[in-house]
Amino acid sequence: MVKQTIQIFARVKPPVRKHQQGIYSIDEDEKLIPSLEIILPRDLADGFVNNKRESYKFKFQRIFDQDAKQETIFENIAKPVAGSVLEGYNGTIFAYGQTGSGKTFTITGGAERYSDRGIIPRTLSYIFEQLQKDSSKMYTTHISYLEIYNECGYDLLDPRHEASSLEDLPKVTILEDPDQNIHLKNLTLHQATTEEEALNLLFLGDTNRMIAETPMNQASTRSHCIFTIHLSSKEPGSATVRHAKLHLVDLAGSERVAKTGVGGHLLTEAKYINLSLHYLEQVIIALSEKHRSHIPYRNSMMTSVLRDSLGGNCMTTMIATLSLEKRNLDESISTCRFAQRVALIKNEAVLNEEIDPRLMIKRLQKEIQELKDELAMVTAEQRTEALTEAELLQLEKLITSFLEDQDPESRLEVGADMRKVHHCFHHLKKLLNDKKIFGNNTVSNTVSSESKDRDCQEPLKEEEYRKLRDILKQRDNEINILVNMLKKEKKKAQEALHLAGMDRREFRHSQSPPFPPGNPEEGQRMRLSSAPSQAQDFSILGNRSSLLHKKTGMREEMSLGRQEAFEIFKRDHADSVTIDDNKQILKQRFSEAKALGESINEARSKIGHLKEEITQRHIQQVALGISENMAVPLMPDQQEEKLRSQLEEEKRRYKTMFTRLKALKVEIEHLQLLMDKAKVKLQKEFEVWWAEEATNLQVNSPAVNSLDHTKPFLQTSDSQHEQSQLFSNKSDVNARKILPSPCPSPHSQKQSSTSTPLEDSIPKRPMSSIPLTGDSQTDSDILAFIKARQSILQKQ
Ligand code: ADP
Ligand code: MG
Repeated sequence: MVKQTIQIFARVKPPVRKHQQGIYSIDEDEKLIPSLEIILPRDLADGFVNNKRESYKFKFQRIFDQDAKQETIFENIAKPVAGSVLEGYNGTIFAYGQTGSGKTFTITGGAERYSDRGIIPRTLSYIFEQLQKDSSKMYTTHISYLEIYNECGYDLLDPRHEASSLEDLPKVTILEDPDQNIHLKNLTLHQATTEEEALNLLFLGDTNRMIAETPMNQASTRSHCIFTIHLSSKEPGSATVRHAKLHLVDLAGSERVAKTGVGGHLLTEAKYINLSLHYLEQVIIALSEKHRSHIPYRNSMMTSVLRDSLGGNCMTTMIATLSLEKRNLDESISTCRFAQRVALIKNEAVLNEEIDPRLMIKRLQKEIQELKDELAMVTAEQRTEALTEAELLQLEKLITSFLEDQDPESRLEVGADMRKVHHCFHHLKKLLNDKKIFGNNTVSNTVSSESKDRDCQEPLKEEEYRKLRDILKQRDNEINILVNMLKKEKKKAQEALHLAGMDRREFRHSQSPPFPPGNPEEGQRMRLSSAPSQAQDFSILGNRSSLLHKKTGMREEMSLGRQEAFEIFKRDHADSVTIDDNKQILKQRFSEAKALGESINEARSKIGHLKEEITQRHIQQVALGISENMAVPLMPDQQEEKLRSQLEEEKRRYKTMFTRLKALKVEIEHLQLLMDKAKVKLQKEFEVWWAEEATNLQVNSPAVNSLDHTKPFLQTSDSQHEQSQLFSNKSDVNARKILPSPCPSPHSQKQSSTSTPLEDSIPKRPMSSIPLTGDSQTDSDILAFIKARQSILQKQ
C-alpha cells in the first residue's frame, strides 16, 4: 500500500498581452518547498478583499512558469503517475483553473503544433512504449471517454454520435452496488492495441465534443471530461491479474460569481458558476478536515465517478492552471487556495490484484495430472502389450525435440507408462552408442554413470505414495471450491445485469475492468457486458475518415455559391494559417519518411547481401578445410571479420532509421489528426456564419432582391459591421472572431421545417437547427452580397 497526499503542481500560462501581466514571483529554493507569491495591486486589494492584504503566498510541489514546455510538464507530472499505473496502482491527474488558464492545453494539448501535445497523447505514447518493452507480462488496454455536462454523463466514444446529437444518446448513469462500488451504465470501453488506435479514440472523442457544442451551449468550459486508460496485466502462467485505471481529467472552468466585491466580500464567499465544482469543493473540504465520517460524494456525478481519486485507492495529482493577468488575479488566488486544501488529502493506493479462478483451475489440473502420473508409477499398473509403430515414432520425435531443446528445465514427458519409459531409455542408449562410434567417449561416460545412479535409486516408499494420494485429494477439493465460487460469481453477474435493466453495455467500472484475452470465461463476460462497444471498435476507428467526410465533406453537396463562399471563408480564416503551416510540415515529414523508407530498404538489401557474402565465405572456408584435410582453419578469417563488422554497422544504421521512421509515423498521424480537427472546426464555424448571413438576408430581402448590395451592409448592426469588417480584413486575421449565432427566430424555424435535400444531407446536430437556405438561388445571392460587402470595404 502506498500512502500519499494528493500532489499539487502549478502552471502559469503566458499572458495574451504582456502589459496585462500581474505581479507574481516564484521561489524555488532547493531546500524549501517551492512557493508562488501573488501581489495584488493596492487598488485591486482595496476593492476585492476587506482585509487589504496585498500579497498571497502558496506552496506547491513544483511551479512551472510561463516558458515551461509540454515535454517538461509530462516528464515531471504525468510520467511518475503513468509509471505507477504500469505497476498496477490507480492514478488520476486533474487540471483545475478558470476558463482560458490552460487546462485543455495541459491535458490534451494545443491544436496547432505537434510539440504542443498534452499529457494524454504523451502518456499514451509512454504507456505503449513501456508495454512493448516489457515482455514479462501480458497487457490489455482499454479506453473510455466521458463528458459530464449539467450533471448528465455523455459517452464521447459512443459510435452513434454520427447519427444523432449528444442529447439523443442514452445518458451515462451511475449505479451503485451493495458493496458501494460504482458502475457506469452506457459508457463504452474500447480496446486499443496500439498507440495509434488510442490516439484515434482521443481524436474521435474530442471531435464529438466539439461538434456537440453550440454557441448557446459552450460545453467545453462548463463540462468535465474524463479520459480513462484501463490497463490489465498478467504474468504468463500466473493466476493473478492486475488492474489499474488512469483518469486524465479536464475540469470545467472554476470561475466564480460575486467577485466584483461590493466592498467587504471575501474571495472565499464567491460562488462557483459550475455547481458540480461546488460539490467537489465540499468533498475536498470534508476530506481535509480530520474526523469527518461522512464525505458527500453522492452530491454530484463528477465526485461519484472520481470517488477513488479523492481520498481513496488512487495516486492523485492536481495541476492548478493559472492565468496571472491583472484581471484574473482573484480567480488565480481562489485556484491556489483550492489547491492548498487538496494538498491535505491523503490517499491510500493499493495494488489491484485479483486471483483469476479459471487460471488457478488450469494450473491445479496440470498439477493433478502430474500427480496422477506419479501415482500410477508407484502403483505400477502393468501393461504388457507392445507399443504400436505410431507410438514408437511419436516417442522418438519427443526424444529428438527434448535433446534439441536448449532450455535446461525442459522435460521428456511420456506419462506413467513404463513401456514408454523403457523405450526412451533404449532409444537414448542407442543414440549414445551411435555417437560412441564417432569417438565421443566423454559424453557417454558421464551419461552412463548418471544412468547407473538412476538404476540405484530406491523404489518409492509406501509413505510417499500415501502423501501423493493426499495431495491429490486436496487438489480435487480445491477445484470443487473454485468451481462453486465461479458459479456464484456468474450468478451475481447475471443478477447485476438484470438490475441494470438488462443493459448489455454496462461494464464494471470500479472493480472489474476488462480481463486480458486468453481468459475464455472472463472474455465472455466482457463480451456480454459490452458487446456492442466491442463490435463497434473497428467501425469507430475505420469511421474516422467517414466522420470527417460527413463533417467536412459537406461542401461536395453544397450549391456552387456556397462552395465559393466557403473557399473565401476558409482563405480568410485565422486557422487557415495553421492548417497551411501544418500542411507544409506534413509534406516535409512525408518526404522525410519516404526518404527514410528508401534508405531502410537499401540498408535491408545491403544486410541481405552481406549475410549472403558471409555464408559464401563460410562455404569456401569449409571446402578449403576439407581439401587441405583440416577440421578448423587455424587463423581467423580476416575477410569474414570485416564483413561481420560491416554487417553490425549496417544493422545499427537500420535500427536507428527504423526508430526514427516509427517516431515520424506517430508525428504524421498526430498532425493529420490536428488538421482533421481544424477542418471540422472550420466547417462548423462556416455553418454558423452562413446561417447568420442567411438570416440577415431574409431580414433584408427587399434590398437583395433589388440587388442594392450596399443597403443590407448599411443596415447591419454594429456587431455585424465589426464582424464583416474583421472578416474582410486579411491583415488582422488573428483578431477576427465569429460571433455566436442568436436563437433561431420563429420565422427562420419555419424555413428550416421545409427542408430541402441539401438540408437532409446535413447531420442533425444542434447546429443544423439554424436555418440554412439550401436554395442555390439564395445561396448565390448571399455570395453576391458578401462580395459586394467586401468590395465596398476594400474601397473604404
Ligand atoms: P482552458 O481549457 O483552461 O479553458 P485552454 O487550454 O483552452 O484553457 O487555453 C486557452 C488558450 O491559451 C488556448 O488558445 C491555448 O492554446 C493557450 N494556452 C494555454 N496554456 C498555454 C501555454 N502554457 N502555452 C501557450 N499557450 C497556452
Ligand atoms: Mg478547456
